[in-house]
Parts: sequence; structure tokens; C-alpha cells
Amino acid sequence: MLTDNVAEVERRIEAACSRAGRSRDSVRLIAVSKTKPVSDIEEVMGTGIRDFGENKVQELNDKYDALPKDLRWHMIGHLQRNKVKFLPGKTVLIHSVDSLKLAQEIDKDFAKHGLTAQILIEVNVAREESKFGTTAEELTELVKEISLLEHVHINGLMTIAPDTDDPEQNRVYFRKLRELSVDIRSKNIDNVDMYELSMGMTGDYEVAIEEGATLIRVGTGIFGKRTYNI
Ligand SMILES: *Cc1c(COP(=O)(O)O)cnc(C)c1O
Repeated sequence: MLTDNVAEVERRIEAACSRAGRSRDSVRLIAVSKTKPVSDIEEVMGTGIRDFGENKVQELNDKYDALPKDLRWHMIGHLQRNKVKFLPGKTVLIHSVDSLKLAQEIDKDFAKHGLTAQILIEVNVAREESKFGTTAEELTELVKEISLLEHVHINGLMTIAPDTDDPEQNRVYFRKLRELSVDIRSKNIDNVDMYELSMGMTGDYEVAIEEGATLIRVGTGIFGKRTYNI
């Protein structure tokens, strides 16, 4: 039962918060529903969860149309510029912005609807070849450039840590992301906030919470294994 999975994840979140001396309210659980049917999402909604994550624009749109409008959809996957136009009004937060060109496209498409996009900057902290994201070195410059766009607002940073059996190995990357956000905050750049840290997935969200995550993205731990992997 998905309800039992949610209860287990919730128990672990609370334990991690208490170990870290944080309040449960300081961490938001995003249920990553990619590849999963609407009926599964409805079951998870029954537990009170309203934040859902998708990594494909088309799938996010289909589910947006099919489900109640009080859900908060998070775009967490790599985003192609020609797909951005389908997002205004549908997503509360785009987690995966890693280039000025993509941010400019978002700015243009959200402006057309009179909206401002809330975004995070994705950082490839672990420098994995296979992953998207800007580098720690390029981050400040990218944040400064994006901050000038009128219809885009940076809320913080996001990272996808390496796939590992030992979540402790990812602690350094989560800590690094938090250090980067503290560093950027100290620069007091106009139109930039740094209160969100989107980090931690099924295998490592407890460590991420201990290192300051404010948004965790849990798929498998709630919905079970995906039939195809993305
Ligand atoms: C799929 C996905 C997740 C969830 O992964 P699980 O290991 O199933 O929890 C989190 N973040 C991103 C960016 C994803 O694509």
C-alpha cells in the first residue's frame, strides 16, 4: 500500500529532523510520480501530500489536467528549451535550471502569461559526467546573470547526488550545496533568494535533511519501483 510507504517515509523524515534539531515544518516532501498512473497519485493524495514531482513536461501537463488544481507540480527533470512554453501556470517550481539560455527562454514564456517563474539552479556538485547542472565555479556568475531577468525568480539550489548504496558518501555533496547557498546569500544579489535546498532522493534523503535540505524528492520510496527508468 502506498499509504504505508508514505507513513514510513514520514517516520524517517521526522527522525532525521529530530537528529538535526530541525522542525518537521522546515522540510517539504515532494512525491516524485514520474511514470506512475493518476490512480497512484490519488492514493498518495489521500495522505495529505500535495507536492508532486515530474521530470517530463508532457507528463506533468497530462497529470495537471487530470488531477485537482490544488496540487503543486514541481518540474525536476532536465528541461528542453522548446518545451518551456507548456509550463507557465502548471508548475510552482522548476528545479533544474542550469544555463542562462534556458532561463531566458523561461523568462520569455512566463512573461507572455504575465507570470514569474520560481526556479532553482541545478548544481552538479559531484561533477558527474552523466549529470546536468552548472559547476560550483560557474554558479555565482550564472546566478548574477539570471537575477537580471524580470520574470524569473531564483529561490535556491538543487542537486542530484550520485547513485550509491551508502548514503553517507553523499553527505559531502549535500554539505557543499549548502555552503554554496550560504556563499551566494552573503553576496546579497538583488532578486535572488537562497532559502530552498532541493536535495535528497529515496536512497539518501535522511542524510540530505541532516545537511539542511528544505525540499526532498522521493519517488521509489513512495510509489515503488518504476517500470522503466529515467
Ligand atoms: C526520479 C527522480 C527522483 C526520485 O528518485 P527516487 O530514487 O526514485 O526517489 C528525484 N529527483 C530527480 C531529479 C529525479 O529525476
